[in-house]
Amino acid sequence: MKEATKYSEADIEDLNRQLAGKSAEEIVRWAGEAFGGGIKFANSFGAEDVALMDIIAKAEPQIRVFTLDTGRLNDETYQVMEDTRLRHKDIPIEVMFPDSDKVEALTREKGFFSFRDSVELRKECCGIRKVQPLKRALADAEAWMTGLRRDQAVTRTDTPAVEWDAGNGIVKVNPIIDWSLDDVWTYIKANEVPYNKLHDQHYPSIGCAPCSRAIKDGEDIRAGRWWWENPEFKECGLHD
Ligand code: SF4
Repeated sequence: MKEATKYSEADIEDLNRQLAGKSAEEIVRWAGEAFGGGIKFANSFGAEDVALMDIIAKAEPQIRVFTLDTGRLNDETYQVMEDTRLRHKDIPIEVMFPDSDKVEALTREKGFFSFRDSVELRKECCGIRKVQPLKRALADAEAWMTGLRRDQAVTRTDTPAVEWDAGNGIVKVNPIIDWSLDDVWTYIKANEVPYNKLHDQHYPSIGCAPCSRAIKDGEDIRAGRWWWENPEFKECGLHD
């Protein structure tokens, strides 16, 4: 493992200046050199993340990879997880599950679709199934990496390549923050990267099965996520 270099909130502005104009591959290489195995990539196996996984595998395979299995994913998502696992056998994928006691209590007390009743209840479910497992995954990390893109959502328009994640007290690195959706698909096709087949059925953004749907022509790419909520609430707590 490479020797890790620690950064704090005070370094973020400077790091973004240093990385301005760098390609995704260059940012991934920088992150691998800066943090070694101390950085973990949160792979949700959406289009952005399978492309980024491929870049990581080629550039800095010591970067650790984890995913959150909420227990409510589509079969197509498990299939791309498996296809990716087989393609990158040298990179173990750590699967984080929610606390079973909390899921049992949630479903016993509030049923199987409580997340439809209010933003608060939806955030409770995301908290148990996503945010808390994420915190466990990051407990031994000094930085994490994501496939966020700036034009994915109104909540992400100001997101930089490197940010300070105050909630987790670590650096967050977003190597493809400047990519367009076209850039993502150009990479996937050119490199024959396995992807979630729901993308071929008009699902640009895929989360849990009951909270993701196909979108119609002209709809925003996040319109299929928690479609019963206003756009400004559409974060699950992973990237708030
Ligand atoms: S996306 Fe839906 S099912 Fe998944 S954790 Fe959030 S509220 Fe629960």
